[in-house]
Amino acid sequence: MALLSILHYPDPRLKKVAKPVSVVDERVRTLVRDMAETMYDAPGVGLAATQVDVHEQIIVIDISEAHDDLRVFINPEIIEASAELKEAEEGCLSVPGIYDSVERPDRIRVKALNKFGEPFELEADGLLAVCIQHEMDHLRGRVFVDYLSQLKQSRIKGKMRKLERESA
Ligand SMILES: [Zn+2]
Repeated sequence: MALLSILHYPDPRLKKVAKPVSVVDERVRTLVRDMAETMYDAPGVGLAATQVDVHEQIIVIDISEAHDDLRVFINPEIIEASAELKEAEEGCLSVPGIYDSVERPDRIRVKALNKFGEPFELEADGLLAVCIQHEMDHLRGRVFVDYLSQLKQSRIKGKMRKLERESA
């Protein structure tokens, strides 16, 4: 097991589009374990492979209080989304300290492979639906900040650069 380092916005590598995983093998399962360990250590409720500079369609999520309900989605696809939208506050391990509201479909149905490469479908709403959509955005090179106004985006970039300088 290993802790992976998380890319910080506005790192251009966060804009890369992830490729589908062709074979779910031991290499992928090791990456999933390392991603989960990195997410729990941060701590966060979700992590996409893009955020650890691996551009493959893999996400891990655990929204439980006890951190004992790890969900793994490989090659996830949204197959249904409610017309009804809901606004929720989001944060991101790649944009530390920033939280803002994003509007997304309230309920989704997602199809993916599990860590054994077996297909499954899941219906999600509430926080889980928000997390899945947020993490899937990372796989196509989008960060939640991209949904905010230009003014907010430039303020956030400024804050992130200041943080980088302070930690350098
Ligand atoms: Zn994120």
